[in-house]
Amino acid sequence: MSKEVKPESVSLRPLGGGAAVMATSEQEPVCIFGTGDLGRSLGQRLLQTDYKVVYGSRRPRSCGPLPEGAQAFSHADAAQLASLIFVCVHREHYDFMETLTSQLEGKVLVDVSNNPEKNLYPEANAAYLQRLLPGCQVVKGFNTLSAWTLQNGPSDASRQVYLCGNSAEAKQAVAEVATKMGLTVLDRGSLSAARELEDIPLQLFPEWKLPLQITVGLLAFFFFYLLIREVVYAYVDQGKDISFRIMVSLANKVFPIVSLIMLSLCYLPGVIAAFLQMYRGTKYRRFPDWLDRWMLCRKQLGLLALALAFLHVLYTLIIPIRYYVRYRILDFTVTQIRENQTSEFDNTMAWRTDSYYSVGILGFGLYILLGITSLPSVSNALSWREFSFIQSKLGHVTLLLCTLHTYLYGWDRFLHPSMYKWYTPAGYMLSLLVPTVVLTLKLLLLLPCVDRSITRIRRGWERTDLDEEKTLLA
Ligand code: NAP
Repeated sequence: MSKEVKPESVSLRPLGGGAAVMATSEQEPVCIFGTGDLGRSLGQRLLQTDYKVVYGSRRPRSCGPLPEGAQAFSHADAAQLASLIFVCVHREHYDFMETLTSQLEGKVLVDVSNNPEKNLYPEANAAYLQRLLPGCQVVKGFNTLSAWTLQNGPSDASRQVYLCGNSAEAKQAVAEVATKMGLTVLDRGSLSAARELEDIPLQLFPEWKLPLQITVGLLAFFFFYLLIREVVYAYVDQGKDISFRIMVSLANKVFPIVSLIMLSLCYLPGVIAAFLQMYRGTKYRRFPDWLDRWMLCRKQLGLLALALAFLHVLYTLIIPIRYYVRYRILDFTVTQIRENQTSEFDNTMAWRTDSYYSVGILGFGLYILLGITSLPSVSNALSWREFSFIQSKLGHVTLLLCTLHTYLYGWDRFLHPSMYKWYTPAGYMLSLLVPTVVLTLKLLLLLPCVDRSITRIRRGWERTDLDEEKTLLA
């Protein structure tokens, strides 16, 4: 067997020889087994790319409309016309190919199959096909593209084709076809990676799982916490039914609280990592798995936090049109008129509320900027320095503004005993814990002596006692 193609890179030079050369030459057709959805879409794309296409079908005469220019034959006849065969048939039906062993000998078979669920079979479909037909060179690939995508022309997100197989030449042949079709090929190594490729279409937002679990967990916790502290407490203590507050007031407390905690959770792992590197005196030791996982989901945490902050803004905007609020204002005004009372203008209160709103608006503005710059299309246009300036420096400023917004909201409320219903702190107080810790730790990291030390470590410096330790171990 010739040498393997390096993972993640596919050379696009023309093939040197062998069966694969014939497979991609303009004269020789590409064969597709199966005239179903994928087979037809793939055939159409191949024809548009100037390949000749022949189909192998159980019913070559009555297999339904095929792309213009393609011909259908029996499996045996079609296999003899091509060296490269796309197997667009479900795995359950692969056994029919066992009867074609002689016609398929030495051919490149592309296994495009997927399964309805993970671990359905003990071995990957491509490995099974290779076992059925040891005389063929099986390449796994194209399974992450849908028939629809192929028919409509791949968009940016679906331009990638993963390939794996034991023969470098066979992979090269398939890679050339894919490249001519305008797709980007990613070589994932030998056929043992087939199961991994077959699992890709079955993934359900894998990188969102943990952030979503954290969000739902925090939302549920704070919802019930505030429900008990506010609605149930009012009912039990004062006999008042204020359950209507669940819809807007409670929601408008839960969303910003969780949003602020999640924003700070985006920056906490970075701070922990910095302290860990300082403690270890090197950046060359791996972080614990939990920290790695946490760091990898910061973008999703941030986007979910932004979504909650956005909901908080929307809920805040509807406050003036709420029946409850309009009733309270009218009632207050009428009471004052009746009792011939006036209330003094409170300058401190004016400062406090204006600062609270203003800081909140600025924080939200930067929040949006962070969200926009995390989109691949935007972040790709930024240099590393620009990206890290926005995500790290402006990110911490955003956290600072949003935390300040919450402190201004609280003001001196924490001094009032009535705030501690059933001896529990208010929700906003709890929401300030993590961001305050993160900002304090960040402030420590910004101290010149600490900053110098962490910068040196990140440039590759290692503490000397580590060197001595290593020498001793050696
Ligand atoms: P499909 O529409 O059901 O077509 C499957 C074809 O297989 C049939 O049209 C038939 O072609 C052939 N076939 C059916 N029973 C057979 C048997 N007993 N023996 C031999 N051949 C038989 O399925 P599809 O959507 O094209 O999917 C084909 C493969 O591609 C599957 O493995 C699937 O997982 C994979 N895939 C599909 C998509 C997609 O978007 N559809 C995307 C990625 C991967 P003839 O009647 O001409 O023999």
